[in-house]
Parts: sequence; C-alpha cells; structure tokens
Amino acid sequence: MFGRGPRKSDNTKYYDILGVAKNASEDEIKKAYRKAAMKNHPDKGGDPEKFKELGQAYEVLSDPEKKEMYDQYGEDALKEGMGGGSSFHNPFDIFESFFGGAGFGGGGPSRGRRQKQGEDVVHSLKVSLEDVYNGTTKKLSLSRNVLCPKCKGKGSKSGTAGRCFGCQGTGMKITRRQIGLGMIQQMQHVCPECKGTGEVISERDRCPQCKGNKITQEKKVLEVHVEKGMQQGQKIVFEGQADEAPDTITGDIVFVLQVKGHPKFRREHDDLYIDHNLSLTEALCGFQFTVTHLDGRQLLVKSNPGEVIKPGQHKAINDEGMPQHNRPFMRGRLYIKFSVDFPDSGFLPPSQSQALEKILPQKTSKKLSQKELDNCEETTLHDVNIAEEMSRKKQQYSEAYDDDDDEDGESSMPRVQCAQQ
Ligand SMILES: [Zn+2]
Ligand SMILES: [Zn+2]
Repeated sequence: MFGRGPRKSDNTKYYDILGVAKNASEDEIKKAYRKAAMKNHPDKGGDPEKFKELGQAYEVLSDPEKKEMYDQYGEDALKEGMGGGSSFHNPFDIFESFFGGAGFGGGGPSRGRRQKQGEDVVHSLKVSLEDVYNGTTKKLSLSRNVLCPKCKGKGSKSGTAGRCFGCQGTGMKITRRQIGLGMIQQMQHVCPECKGTGEVISERDRCPQCKGNKITQEKKVLEVHVEKGMQQGQKIVFEGQADEAPDTITGDIVFVLQVKGHPKFRREHDDLYIDHNLSLTEALCGFQFTVTHLDGRQLLVKSNPGEVIKPGQHKAINDEGMPQHNRPFMRGRLYIKFSVDFPDSGFLPPSQSQALEKILPQKTSKKLSQKELDNCEETTLHDVNIAEEMSRKKQQYSEAYDDDDDEDGESSMPRVQCAQQ
C-alpha cells in the first residue's frame, strides 16, 4: 500500500482513451464515453480490450475522488489506492449502469454513482413427469424486497438525503498520509458513518413506512409456465424480479426444473421407457394389454400374430415418447422392455411336460451313449440362493483372512465333476 510519491507520472492516458482534453468537463467526459462505448461494444463487433479500457478510463474520470488522485499522482498511485490494480469494475457493468441505470442523471446525491448488479435468486422447482409431458402452470407465492413505494426508495420524507460528511458522498474513504520523504501511504475503506451509501438521513426526515431503510417486503405470486418437453435442470427466468435495492440493477429470479422420478415411466431425452412382465404363455402365444399414458390416454399394446418375445427384449412404439421442447408435435419413442415369468415352482407335472415336449422344438442337447454315461460320476443339483451364499462366503473369507490356512479355501466351492463333451 505504499504510493510512489508525488512524481510526474503518466496521467493523460485515460483522457487520450476517451479522446477528451485534460480540462474536459464532467459532461464532455460522459458524452465521450457514451459515444465510444456504443461504438466499441463487443456485442456490436467492437474490440473487447478497447471496450475495457474505455470502461476503466470512464470509471476513473467520472469519479471526482479518483479523478483527482489520477490527475495528481498518475495511474500507478491510483491503482494502489484502489487496492492492487485489479479492482476496476466489470466494463459491462459500467456500460449497463450508464445506459440502463435509473440512478444516472436523476439528480440528487446518488447522481453519478454507478449501479451495482443485484444478485439472482435461484429456486429449484419440483415437477412431475406428467407436468413436463403435458405442460402446466405453477403459481408460486414469494416475498421479496422492493424499493419502498412511499419514499420511492429514497428513505426520507423530503425525498433527499444529506451527503455524508465523512466521505463527501462517495461511500469510500481514502486516507493519505506522509510516511517518509516523498512517500505517501494511501488506504481506501468503506465509510463507517454511512456504511458506504454516501448519504445520511436525519432522524426527523426518515420515511415512516420503511424507517429510512429504503426497502419494504412485498408478497408476489409468480406464474411459472412449465412447457411441454422441458428437461431436467432447465431454467425458467423472470428477468429483474429478484430483490430490489437502491442503486442496484435488480437481478433475476431463476427456477431450475427438478423432474421427480415416476413409478412407471423413465425418461431419457425425448424417449420414454417402461417395463412389462409377460407370462411364459403370453411370451410364446401372444398378448395384449393397456398402458395408461402420462396424459391419461389408454394405449393398447398387442403382439403380432405368431411372434415370440424373449426375456429382456425391447420393443418400441413410435411417437409415444416425450414431446420435444419448442417442437411439441415432434415426439420420441416409447420403449417397452419385456421380462418373462417362467413357471414358479420349477416343476411341471410329467403329463404336461411330455405334452409340451411334443409341441416345442426338439431338444438340442444330444443323448448320451451308455459308454459315456459309464465314464461319468453322477451329481445332484441343489437349489441355492446365490446372493445370500456369496455374501456369507465373503464374510467367512474376510474373517479367515488372517488365519493363514487359505490353501484349501476353495474346497467348499462346487466343482464340475463331469463335463459333457
Ligand atoms: Zn460516508
Ligand atoms: Zn420509505
């Protein structure tokens, strides 16, 4: 925070950037910035670096305190005074507050002070899959800060506020002090008397409604239009509807869609997926069933004549998926994943089994000869709950890990005794 001392340093650069004379008036500086910033705005194809320079030059020359320091001590001293050189404001904020800000040119003590960008308020909005399939409107009541309607955000009955004596209305205090031969220390901090507002309102003049706070609470109902086909995480923005504050560009209220899971339908982009169980007979001999869609329509789903469905097989119905956002007449597909329930007990009565064997395609496993059978050892197949057994074994092995006798560890695993060839 040490200044360089009062030497002749470059203090014409900012005037050159704006193309004005060193003795230019406040009005001339404003006009020069307006013209150059419009011409060089990156949205209109201007050079971003030039635009940034214009913002910095204007930021300094439009602020009496900074201008004075710049004129007297030059750019380096100014940057140090601002706390390290990187504390220029965003050039776009400067541009917006110049052109879009109500706080400019309105007279009064806030004249000339740039507006801050208010924060956005972000809410997550839970919706069902039905909501994004059909589209819906959600009414949400919110309370927010607004500029006090009685004093129009001035905080005082008279509509004016006194300029803070401590900081001359700038909200910041810069203290300089000589700390050695030709050395000046400069510090900038928020004015404690006005808490950075640059104003003081006398007790008698305070607005009775907001008690000088300039803002009050307002209840507001927002209608949020959830459009057909909107995606998880998509944002719905209400521009300039967030909390209001004096000298601040009001931020946005942003709703981020959270689509809840559905018990039947699963969504992937513009497609929908459902599962359906068929009995073995249906899988082999045909089926028909109904699906209640997300808009309540009943879809009839039926197999083609003679068609056999395999376990895990997918089928698709065109144009019964999700509507596409912005093109709701275009729809994805509805996929159905089939699973097949086999007979539960694992046994069929021998008479049924023989009857089936006559109808079904021939067995593929070859009949073993007596010689092959004589060379085999006979085995027995036991029922197992494999998940349970695996977890039990895992536990056993982890307990036995330190016992140092795992050479025989696999002996309890079933072995193939007789492999067919
Ligand atoms: Zn002050
Ligand atoms: Zn008020």
